[in-house]
Amino acid sequence: MSDYVMTIAGEAAPTEATFGVVNPATGEVFAQAPECTAEQLDAAYDAAAKAARDWKADEGARRACLRRAADVLTASAGDLAPVLTAEQGKPLRDANVEVVAASIWTQYFANLETPAQVIQDDDKARVELARRPLGVVAAITPWNFPLTLAFWKIGPALLAGNTLVLKPSPFTPLATLKVGELLRDVFPPGVVNVISGGDELGAKMTSHPVPRKISFTGSVETGKKVAQSAAPDLKRVTLELGGNDPAIVLDDADPAAVASAIFAGAFANNGQVCSAIKRVYIPEALYDDVVEGLAAQARTIKVGDGTQEGVKLGPINNRPQYERVKELVGDALSRGATAVAGGKAMDRPGYFFEPTVLAGVSDGTRIVDEEQFGPALPVVPYRNLADAIDRANATHFGLSGSVWGADTDRAADVAAQLECGTAWVNTHLALAPQQPFGGFKWSGIGVENGPWGLAEFCELQVVYRSKTSST
Ligand code: NAD
Repeated sequence: MSDYVMTIAGEAAPTEATFGVVNPATGEVFAQAPECTAEQLDAAYDAAAKAARDWKADEGARRACLRRAADVLTASAGDLAPVLTAEQGKPLRDANVEVVAASIWTQYFANLETPAQVIQDDDKARVELARRPLGVVAAITPWNFPLTLAFWKIGPALLAGNTLVLKPSPFTPLATLKVGELLRDVFPPGVVNVISGGDELGAKMTSHPVPRKISFTGSVETGKKVAQSAAPDLKRVTLELGGNDPAIVLDDADPAAVASAIFAGAFANNGQVCSAIKRVYIPEALYDDVVEGLAAQARTIKVGDGTQEGVKLGPINNRPQYERVKELVGDALSRGATAVAGGKAMDRPGYFFEPTVLAGVSDGTRIVDEEQFGPALPVVPYRNLADAIDRANATHFGLSGSVWGADTDRAADVAAQLECGTAWVNTHLALAPQQPFGGFKWSGIGVENGPWGLAEFCELQVVYRSKTSST
């Protein structure tokens, strides 16, 4: 049996079968995760459905449980962070930040006011809008931020009065399983169930008849499958999918300052952030300076095993993603791009890739047009701003983007022309629990966070009280 165990109906749910979890810093399997059976999936949904009846009845109790969950997360950061580093690869310090962020988000939802809305109150009627829970939620998360993204779902789903079955990515199931264990003492049995397994378990979760809502974070490709799977019985879906975020630098920007900030926005979590900067457009006059500024940082940042002091970037999380980054960088180099920094895999065990800055590259090259999701940044020169905006928008993606310049009004005007869910000015990756996050086009359907994210876990009900009836 594995050290890691699923949580169903508030109890440990052991499995016969397990699968290996690889430490990306070594490339070796270091732990076993439970493989959920079909019967256990049914049991998890059954427990969630049974728990829903009482859970939706007491908002005060829900808020109190969420507050306790936030406290438990903070208190457990020291235990959870090393597990996250081992399975995900991120430096220990970033793993700690991730646990704390999960706690902050949970605290936010515990306290989020949900005032009743009265839309009519006159001689004829009083009409109120109420938000009702949907029932059971299927929550599915990716491997880049397993805990933070789980709690973007847990907080609002539970506050709204739903119960939940959560499945992390098979690449990073362990910290989430540990969280399930910790939450057994926090929520009534069945309110939060945590199961693990491969991609096929995700497909079974979304086609199952019990859940009324699927809250999914992952790739565009899988998001489309989830939407198809939800369609036959009209399950509600929120899809937070991939991005290919552009950063547009304007001609009045300070090259050194911009290079430093753009590097941070592109290489955070080793480039494995849905809304990281994934391509940069720079005016020809500033091109060499910004490229050199980016490359200088890429050459000097410390890459290594996330457990080691001072390491800022870990490995890529998994072999398929590592192969994909190698392939996209190789493709760009074969088409004449220059690796001003990095450009190849590191000669050591694990999935390490040199932080890479690619110059002499343009739209029409795969690494500009596709989501690389790793530590390699293409930098594209432009002559005409309108053309750069068109190129930034010429994509199926539309998660976020940023515009950089000294004249912030002008930069904001350009940002407003970006076709994406979040348009930043002189920053990137500024996220907050009160700020709705979602994508245009193929980057998603719906949003997470804020009252808008909460609304996605509710049905809207009109309560109409007639004042003219004779009864
Ligand atoms: P993925 O789509 O491969 O997997 C995500 C999750 O879906 C995993 O838990 C996986 O097991 C599950 N899954 C796989 N096939 C399924 C199916 N047919 N039905 C249901 N579930 C299934 O994505 P990934 O590689 O884990 O994550 C990287 C992607 O996630 C990137 O594209 C990234 O941009 C995106 N992402 C988006 C956001 C956002 O908020 N928009 C945040 C983080 C990551």
